[in-house]
Amino acid sequence: MPKKAKILIVDDDPLNRLVLEKTLGQDHDVFLVDSGEKALTFTKSNQVDLIILDVVMPGIDGYEVLVQLKENPITQSIPIIFISANNSHTDEAKGLELGAMDYITKPFNASIVKVRVRNQLLIKQKNDLLEMLASIDGLTEIPNRRYLDENLSREWRRSKRNGSCLSVLLMDIDHFKRYNDCYGHRAGDECLKQVAQALAAQCERSTDFIARYGGEEFAAVLPDVNKQQAQAFAQKLRKAVHDLNIEHKASLNAEHITISIGIASMENGNASAEQALLEQADLGLYAAKDAGRDQVFAVNL
Ligand code: GH3
Ligand code: MG
Ligand code: MG
Repeated sequence: MPKKAKILIVDDDPLNRLVLEKTLGQDHDVFLVDSGEKALTFTKSNQVDLIILDVVMPGIDGYEVLVQLKENPITQSIPIIFISANNSHTDEAKGLELGAMDYITKPFNASIVKVRVRNQLLIKQKNDLLEMLASIDGLTEIPNRRYLDENLSREWRRSKRNGSCLSVLLMDIDHFKRYNDCYGHRAGDECLKQVAQALAAQCERSTDFIARYGGEEFAAVLPDVNKQQAQAFAQKLRKAVHDLNIEHKASLNAEHITISIGIASMENGNASAEQALLEQADLGLYAAKDAGRDQVFAVNL
């Protein structure tokens, strides 16, 4: 059975809340709050698929709630349906203009509410799927470069703000051209997939992030990880690739597939630019290659 959608109903009128709960409660998980303030608090700590929002409420009104939800990256993509007794075209236009997906006027008809909610949930599902597909690398099924750039940008800003550390790793498969030449491009693809999955499986903390950076290169973004911890993690990744034990007869540094890793760490939010982290990690990677491959090299920022 598909998971039930979570719908938040925000209305100061107890009777409206009751009727909406009755209308939607059978098919969805419904949560009820009676003010704009509570809606904002609720969505900060609870994941919600759709919000039905009353326009006129004491305290923060529906329009203001919507504006605040749209300003927060965590809540900005939750579809919102306005529900209002304001049966005027100007109010409806204002709601839609601000970013509401739909507008229902009170008194409402239960079956129309049901269908409109279902439509918005279907659109949300499709948008989520598109977003996911646009962020995942087709071959290795781990996050792609686009997703990495977004993640690095976000974590870099967070680290600067909080004065926390952030480490970036760049990894590259050793003598991979020779692997393709020896075993064929299809075997090369299969190898890339296995390496990517092995690397991704090492991320134990939910904040650790590994992506395919391009070709046979991978990158990791590790929030709150200092240089020493990054080195330990990099050694763990290197070992995970060793343990796959993928034969590589043509390699010049081992009998099996290995990776080289460059590390750049910023301590206490001190770094000039987020791109500098990637550039430094790239320097580290070159140094690891130069030193004979299958090793980790950390660069001092
Ligand atoms: P080094 O140890 O210096 O990194 O040597 P290398 O041979 O790994 O590096 P080089 O940059 O010369 O070659 C990278 C190779 O990776 C060449 C390219 O064909 C291969 N490659 C990149 N993307 C893919 C892919 O998606 N599939 C396959 N099979 N091969 C790929
Ligand atoms: Mg390369
Ligand atoms: Mg390589």
